[in-house]
Amino acid sequence: MMGRTHALTGWCAGLAVAPLVGASSIHQAIAFAAATAGFALLPDLDHPGAGASRLLGPFTGALSWLLRRLSAALYALTKGPRDERSKGTHRHMSHTILFAGGLGALTMWGTRAGGWYAVAGVVLFGVLLAADALGDWLLLLAGAATAWWALTASAAGELQQLTGWLGVAVAVGCVTHCLGDALTESGCPFLFPVPIAGETWYELRPPAFLRFRTGGRFERLVIAPLCLVGALVLVPGVIAGLIAFYDQLFAPAAA
Ligand SMILES: [Zn+2]
Repeated sequence: MMGRTHALTGWCAGLAVAPLVGASSIHQAIAFAAATAGFALLPDLDHPGAGASRLLGPFTGALSWLLRRLSAALYALTKGPRDERSKGTHRHMSHTILFAGGLGALTMWGTRAGGWYAVAGVVLFGVLLAADALGDWLLLLAGAATAWWALTASAAGELQQLTGWLGVAVAVGCVTHCLGDALTESGCPFLFPVPIAGETWYELRPPAFLRFRTGGRFERLVIAPLCLVGALVLVPGVIAGLIAFYDQLFAPAAA
């Protein structure tokens, strides 16, 4: 899956989950989904050429190196008799439910300890990751949204309410990435360490006719437009607004 599609699917998943955790104001839902969109790109930090690895120069470069070393070590230690001969770096440790849960728990703990500053930091990192995939216009939009938020509500107070819950946003982002990767040709070992058919790192993927090629026609002409529609329609208030507009437009005319 292309970076853009990962970010858009993450954004949609974030908007869908936000009301379930009580991120009910439009500001909170958008901050929550911005984190999910960004962290839907994070698992590829295990590839030196990925946007996430190049994002903050030597800092994310070093994180990427560390993640690859850890992933390779874990793979060497745990691989089953039928797992492929592989270095165990790209699409291994960071592409598992366990990693998503771990990073989510860490974010939950970190934002509880750090308060709204920590929440703002995680959301900002998410916006930077997503803008790297979708384009710099997103930074302008995020800046405008922040200004609007600061003018219309108590931004710090609303961010404070997201402490803890932001861990869910991060975990959902990482899981969305894995699901996206699983639909492409190479699959994704996201149930590690559950042993399946002699492999601890079994690549889960749908039957061949349902898989698609990264950046191929199906992704560009079907998946991406669907995600784009979802990205707009799922924003809180948009559906209700569209219904009200439709009702007004087609209201029975008074005689
Ligand atoms: Zn990936």
